[in-house]
Amino acid sequence: MRQQLWACADPDAPGRSIGLVPPPRWATTLVGRMSLDYSVEEPTLNWRTRRQVSSSGYCNLNGRVIGIGAGSDVQDSRLAVLHEMAHLILIQTVDAYQGEHDDCFYDFFWPVIRKYRFPMGAALDYEAEHHRRVVTRTYRRGGGRLRF
Ligand SMILES: [Zn+2]
Repeated sequence: MRQQLWACADPDAPGRSIGLVPPPRWATTLVGRMSLDYSVEEPTLNWRTRRQVSSSGYCNLNGRVIGIGAGSDVQDSRLAVLHEMAHLILIQTVDAYQGEHDDCFYDFFWPVIRKYRFPMGAALDYEAEHHRRVVTRTYRRGGGRLRF
């Protein structure tokens, strides 16, 4: 049996998620649009709700499934979809990419944030909490000015 590998932490830790539910329409629309825009195969979107404000997500390393553990903050859920779709697009289109949070990921991710009009400050705050050094390096390389 194929080993399951994930680009991000699996949000489905026991006791933390409420259960699989249909994704909201905005999320399926965003996943469909990004799949079209980048000419990738549209993934299965597994959606759960969490009893928390913040969201989490994962993308499997065959680039066919993303999962979102959606907290109560919709903006945060939207960022999780953009983040996991960035992993998925790179997995499907860049042979050498293995799902890391590396320069390849963030050099691709910042233009995605701009393209889909997500607030850059909120994206930077969240991503830098988890991956500060690579976030700083890639954002500056793209000509961005950082507040932190
Ligand atoms: Zn990730």
